[in-house]
Amino acid sequence: MRIWAVANQKGGVGKTTTTLALGSLLAQRGRRVLMIDLDPHASLSRTLGTPADPPPRGTLELFDEPPAGLAELRRPAGREGLDFVAAHAGLATLEKRSATRPGLGLALSRAIEAARGQYDHVLLDCPPTLGVLMVNALAAADLAIVPTQTEPLALFGLEGMCRTAAMIERSRQRALPVGILPTLHDRRTRVAHDTLLELRERHGRRVFDDVIPVDTRLRDTAYVLAANPAGGRGLIAYDAALLWLLALDRPLESAA
Ligand code: ADP
Ligand code: MG
Repeated sequence: MRIWAVANQKGGVGKTTTTLALGSLLAQRGRRVLMIDLDPHASLSRTLGTPADPPPRGTLELFDEPPAGLAELRRPAGREGLDFVAAHAGLATLEKRSATRPGLGLALSRAIEAARGQYDHVLLDCPPTLGVLMVNALAAADLAIVPTQTEPLALFGLEGMCRTAAMIERSRQRALPVGILPTLHDRRTRVAHDTLLELRERHGRRVFDDVIPVDTRLRDTAYVLAANPAGGRGLIAYDAALLWLLALDRPLESAA
């Protein structure tokens, strides 16, 4: 079972889209995939049709003591082989409990561990805040995928993200490779081109070879779930990135 956290402290960079696209493409390849929505904004859950009211049982209950079982919390995501665990706004309350509960940082790891054998891949759609939820995701992950928009401001948050990954890596004493995935790339603009160059210059081998272009079809959930890898520029790019990841017995540089 491989656990990938899709994380960036910045919002609107394509984390949720990346989670759904990679999840769908993995399911298309016959893998059993679980996506966990860790964002109180619950975009992934909304996209997949979970109503906000009443608050769905899901991610929050993974943090109960003892945690609710995944078998009870997961839902079908709309195609074979793809399940998800839903979030809602109440997930934000977890951040406040953090100081009071020792071991909270490993709660997600433990909950996922209980699903070993049921899934080949677990994708963690992180919130855009560096709090308990993101720490849990990074602590559980074998790899952090960091979608990064190719625009100058996006580069600032990235250093912080890499520092956080390095901190997690030290505390758990297990490597946490980081893969920076350029997203929402508008190749017609000079600034996107320059930003991509700078990204590769600063972060070298950590940056994916493949770049996700702006492609409005990626805003269509049914289209992404269908995961036809020949279906258009956006999905083709995600499929190429996925191939790169699956070949990842090729080591990525660790966060440190
Ligand atoms: P995040 O989860 O980081 O906040 P989202 O995946 O929700 O980001 O993406 C933000 C917005 O941009 C959404 O409306 C999404 O549909 C759109 N979007 C994401 N990636 C692309 C892309 N490659 N091309 C066009 N629109 C995209
Ligand atoms: Mg999101």
